[in-house]
Amino acid sequence: MIRAMALRANLPLAPGTTPRLRPGDSDDVVRHRESSASVLADMARGLRTASVNARVVAGMYTRRLQFAGPRILQIRVPATCDHHCVFCISLSSESAERRSGTATFDYDRCLRLMDRASELGTLKFNLCSLGETLLFPKLKPLILHIRDASRGAAVIKLVTHGTAIADVGIDFFLENRTHFWLSLHGGDFETWHRIHRSDASDPRAQFDRLRRSIRALTSSRRCPVTLHNVVSVHNYDKLAGILDFALETGVRDLSFTAVRGFSKHMLGEPERARLRAELPALRRAMRKHGVRTNLGSFVLDLASEDGAGPRHWAKNGSGFYNTKRCYIGWLMTFVDVDGRIVPCCRGKELGNIDRDDFADVWHGPYAEFRRRSVSIASSGPPPGYDCEHCSHVGLNEKANRLVRF
Ligand code: SF4
Ligand code: SF4
Repeated sequence: MIRAMALRANLPLAPGTTPRLRPGDSDDVVRHRESSASVLADMARGLRTASVNARVVAGMYTRRLQFAGPRILQIRVPATCDHHCVFCISLSSESAERRSGTATFDYDRCLRLMDRASELGTLKFNLCSLGETLLFPKLKPLILHIRDASRGAAVIKLVTHGTAIADVGIDFFLENRTHFWLSLHGGDFETWHRIHRSDASDPRAQFDRLRRSIRALTSSRRCPVTLHNVVSVHNYDKLAGILDFALETGVRDLSFTAVRGFSKHMLGEPERARLRAELPALRRAMRKHGVRTNLGSFVLDLASEDGAGPRHWAKNGSGFYNTKRCYIGWLMTFVDVDGRIVPCCRGKELGNIDRDDFADVWHGPYAEFRRRSVSIASSGPPPGYDCEHCSHVGLNEKANRLVRF
């Protein structure tokens, strides 16, 4: 109906297009049509999003069926990296070849995957990499393809260190309303560089440019930015500087997590004790400035015995999933750079986009996974899944609040 109204009114629905104007239209008419077009396009996107959300939730209620989704698709693109972070994940657990950007990736298959996901109703696409996402050579065409396939309704989020934002083009991101999950780790140059160890000939200038890029994104109000910070022995005493950086750049979302898997960089008990004492004041300061943060749960992680956080499923019955359900099978899918389709970060391969149609996997092997994962409380984790250390508790907390029986 919205579409028909828009067409009758000679207005476009796709973002980035302009309404057809007649010769002689006054500036007022032009402005009126442009603003009406934008309102109608927003309404159309809103309706589409509401419809997908309703169908995803309806599937969760059945605990068995699915009527749309996955709501979020996270895909890893191959890209090299120009930083050398002291706790680079690709060096710890994955092939260094991928971080070098040499891993194979069939771009056309990727586009078909995006189309299939859009047909199924996916409306959020997280693009990440074991290198630096912004250095993926086909990033722009990929983003444009997703926007077109979803008729502008999709949210695209980039997981990045951010220093190439200006190289790709700030205007491009503003035009496409791209979201950013940006790994910062340090709010002052010395801390940032101690961790990132950038290749740049003038890393201080690069840090200043990063600051300006973030400021340009946030001041537009079109590109939400979350600053993510891995806390280690290199920055645990500099977290206040991260709040200063956020206030200076207009960022209102901060995320913190403790480094894991790198024993020489991990926090010992003295550092954790100091943070437990200092973080409440920092949290109050963030609240005062309207900055959203996960410091509440971060403090709880620090309070656990080894600082590795609570067990989310535990044999003694104390974990989150001992009483709550996992709905990831309706909400999110991960596709790795080698095409593997896995339902969660701690999960097993259910198919591969190099040989399987994504919709077949979503309707086929996923059914058994959904059945097992939604009943962890009664039957335990699906075989081969590390639910004790689940990374999706936050998402599942929200889903459990939404779906009550
Ligand atoms: S930015 Fe990411 S990929 Fe690059 S070195 Fe740092 S952690 Fe590794
Ligand atoms: S690790 Fe377990 S609880 Fe977490 S998302 Fe995967 S299946 Fe669900």
